[in-house]
Amino acid sequence: MKSAIFVGAGLPLSIKDRPIPQPGPHRALIRVHRCGICGSDLHMTSGSAFDVPCGTALGHEYAGEVVEIGPGVSEVKVGDRVTALPMAGCGECAACLADIPLHCVALESLAGGYGEYTLIDTRKAIRLPDALSFEDGALVEPLASALRGVRRLPGLGADLRVAILGAGAIGASAAYWARRLGAGPIAMIARTRRNEGLAAAMGADAFLTVGDDLPDQLNRALGGLPDVVIEGAGSSGAIQQSIMLVRNGGTVLTLGGCIRPDTIMPAVAMFKDITLRFSVAYGYADFLQCVQTLDAGAVEPRALVGETIPLSALPERFEALRSGSHAAKIMVDPWRD
Ligand SMILES: [Zn+2]
Ligand SMILES: [Zn+2]
Repeated sequence: MKSAIFVGAGLPLSIKDRPIPQPGPHRALIRVHRCGICGSDLHMTSGSAFDVPCGTALGHEYAGEVVEIGPGVSEVKVGDRVTALPMAGCGECAACLADIPLHCVALESLAGGYGEYTLIDTRKAIRLPDALSFEDGALVEPLASALRGVRRLPGLGADLRVAILGAGAIGASAAYWARRLGAGPIAMIARTRRNEGLAAAMGADAFLTVGDDLPDQLNRALGGLPDVVIEGAGSSGAIQQSIMLVRNGGTVLTLGGCIRPDTIMPAVAMFKDITLRFSVAYGYADFLQCVQTLDAGAVEPRALVGETIPLSALPERFEALRSGSHAAKIMVDPWRD
């Protein structure tokens, strides 16, 4: 089978022939139908301390069809259309019991969505309802990342003024959940107006561009400074900018995941008496909530999806995404010519 493999920083991904993996206990093999390209894949292949080892198969935002199940598997059957957490934990440790498999000491990555087939953990798989496409299924992972961060914000509910820095997939997904979970008004902040339509579709009330008058703009758009600033930009300086913009006593939630050392001015955060918190990944419950929310008709996140490309086009597109900000989410269809 064909799979896109990381072969070293500075080199494009390589489409290699790999043996089709055999599903063991708690595993199923899926034929991948869609896999979204994620900014974190760019981060993890950029020559930083966070790089994955050479030889790693990438792609963790996927959905597909079960074609083979491992011994004893009962959660899914051949032919099921599924999405799944792209990782497996032991299922028994404190992290697994708290539904944060990412922190399991026995964590196993199940990335491989940029390939024709990949293995899933059937305990962490969710069948796609009939109304949802594989493309919808591939949106669940990025939506779940934003959901976990947003649902743990203090004061969620009526009249929580929210500003979101960065109008890419993570920022737009945060707007979607902030809106769904009762927060608002919501202002999205970006460097250009390119994603203004996306922001509105995902639930933002206002779209602002960065500039010296941002506090004034926010005051006007939100009726006061934001109670919460969600940092979804991932760029150097974005956390400090969020600290500057949030109201005294407010919360800065970082979802962006900058991979370089990044300076903040602690005394400003201290003087403003703010809470700075981070959030990563998701649990099974987050995935389930995403699927159920989409299935209930809240399909605004479809606005995130841009082009669909074949696997053969991935290496070049992937490198092109390294420069400049990302447009809509590009989907890979490994079976398209
Ligand atoms: Zn991702
Ligand atoms: Zn565990």
